Amino acid sequence: MHAFNAIGRRLGARRAMTAMSEDAPFWKRKSLAEMTVEEWESLCDGCGRCCLVKLEDEDTERVVYTDLACHMFDGESCRCRDYPNRQREVPDCLQLTPESVPQLGWLPPSCAYRRLAEGRDLPAWHPLITGDPDSVHRAGASVRGRIEPLADGFSLVEMAENDMDSLMDRITDWPEADVPDEGTPRDQD
Ligand code: SF4
Ligand code: SF4
Repeated sequence: MHAFNAIGRRLGARRAMTAMSEDAPFWKRKSLAEMTVEEWESLCDGCGRCCLVKLEDEDTERVVYTDLACHMFDGESCRCRDYPNRQREVPDCLQLTPESVPQLGWLPPSCAYRRLAEGRDLPAWHPLITGDPDSVHRAGASVRGRIEPLADGFSLVEMAENDMDSLMDRITDWPEADVPDEGTPRDQD
């Protein structure tokens, strides 16, 4: 068996620019690097997939997802409980940047930052398009109802050292699946 390391999350991006009308939405007119902080933050669809615990194979560097979420994650809202101060609580929580997104191959393919970095558009269910923050949940793109949060004080490192089998039992592949424009009904997971 390979040894695995727990790794962190959160990132940023850059995408190819084409000539766009001034009326086009900002994500079609601007590269990720050109966006304001507000525009950048609004790109996050709130799926919560990047807040799941991931394991990295030390030999192959392959990253796999578990259905365990960071202890700071609220499974109902699918948002961080203290986003402005998250790195104080969780030092390995990564800040996405336009430069880092293309380097983070483990970002879920449905992630808005990854989609734009790859030259794709936002999906029809994205809250910026629907105007409804719940559309990400209705589309089956979020982790709501599919995960278990880590209890306060729970040590992932301890679990990895003492009960790797239980940790590996939590490995799941649905966070790596893309979500089509029409969404992904849960019975197709
Ligand atoms: S869109 Fe989803 S995967 Fe991407 S940063 Fe936001 S919560 Fe994470
Ligand atoms: S600290 Fe917050 S943003 Fe970072 S992984 Fe945990 S829940 Fe997600």
